Amino acid sequence: MRAVLPQSQSESLPQVSAETQRYDEIPFFNCGDLCTVVTLKSAAFMSAPRAFDFHCHSLFSDGSLAPFELLMLAKERGVELMAITDHDTVNGYSQTLQTQAVELGLELISGCEISCHWQRRGIHVVGLNMNLNDPGFRQAMQAQGQARLSRAESITAVLQRLGFEVELTQVQSLAGNGTIGRPHFARHLVDTGQMSSMSTAFKRVLGSGKPGDIKANWPTLETAIAWITGAGGVAVLAHPLKYKMTITKLRSLLADFVQAGGQGIEVVTGHQEPSKVRTLMDLALRYDLYASAGSDFHHPGQPWAALGQAQSLPNSCQPVWEHWS
Ligand code: AMP
Ligand code: MN
Ligand code: MN
Ligand code: MN
Repeated sequence: MRAVLPQSQSESLPQVSAETQRYDEIPFFNCGDLCTVVTLKSAAFMSAPRAFDFHCHSLFSDGSLAPFELLMLAKERGVELMAITDHDTVNGYSQTLQTQAVELGLELISGCEISCHWQRRGIHVVGLNMNLNDPGFRQAMQAQGQARLSRAESITAVLQRLGFEVELTQVQSLAGNGTIGRPHFARHLVDTGQMSSMSTAFKRVLGSGKPGDIKANWPTLETAIAWITGAGGVAVLAHPLKYKMTITKLRSLLADFVQAGGQGIEVVTGHQEPSKVRTLMDLALRYDLYASAGSDFHHPGQPWAALGQAQSLPNSCQPVWEHWS
């Protein structure tokens, strides 16, 4: 997400450190002329481009790094602005973390990836820049924690019925202090030799449409958006192409999303083909949505979701951080 600016524009913009430059040179992938750089959106938006990552996970949900470790890795990769978007929790945020971010020279905004449903499909909405002291939002987080727990009970029962050996306490211990989710069940099945890999576990029992994909506990899309906007945040539709909808269905989702107060869409999510970025950019423009970008980082060593190293937003998008800067 770091800009490599054309010569003519780079002179008037902040200098890029040698360290950042090094990461710039890593061709995360070649996206042709569509998104070579984040430059100025247009003459009307004369703000400097900024390196940001607004989608990543810590061990407070299904990631493996502590929030401070995420900050350090992001800093090392030249990120200037970031949000930690754990699934259905903001427990990774603390005053200490904010102080550490300031000390590192990173601008840390609040974030969360909320699970909800729309037309019986599981949808993820990223909330950015909420007031974490908002009573309604705090209550919502508590409700999501409960929903995850009762969902985990249901998943345990489903897996047991299918003949797997699993106890909720075993999976809870894998989740530790984080919100419990399907990846923890997959981990358990792999660790105990009942599945050969995480992806096999998702493919066979936990993934979309499989018995362990339980969505009944989630709020509606409208409720999730209301929680975010009620706390002063911006609601961003996460990884829109992961839902495997037709373009017609996706447009219908976006129409409802905007109607409910959603204001942003992830145009860049992890490692993505240029054609997908173009499709998402077109949707952002069509529905007049802010564009967000994030790695969806969970664990080191996954190049398709490397923290701070996804490609830049196309020039014609309006970056979501302009909403509050
Ligand atoms: P949950 O939040 O419990 O609904 O679980 C969803 C999470 O599972 C996603 O955020 C991913 O981190 C992970 N996930 C989804 N599909 C797969 C897969 N095929 N292989 C591994 N992890 C997956
Ligand atoms: Mn996840
Ligand atoms: Mn997601
Ligand atoms: Mn995510």
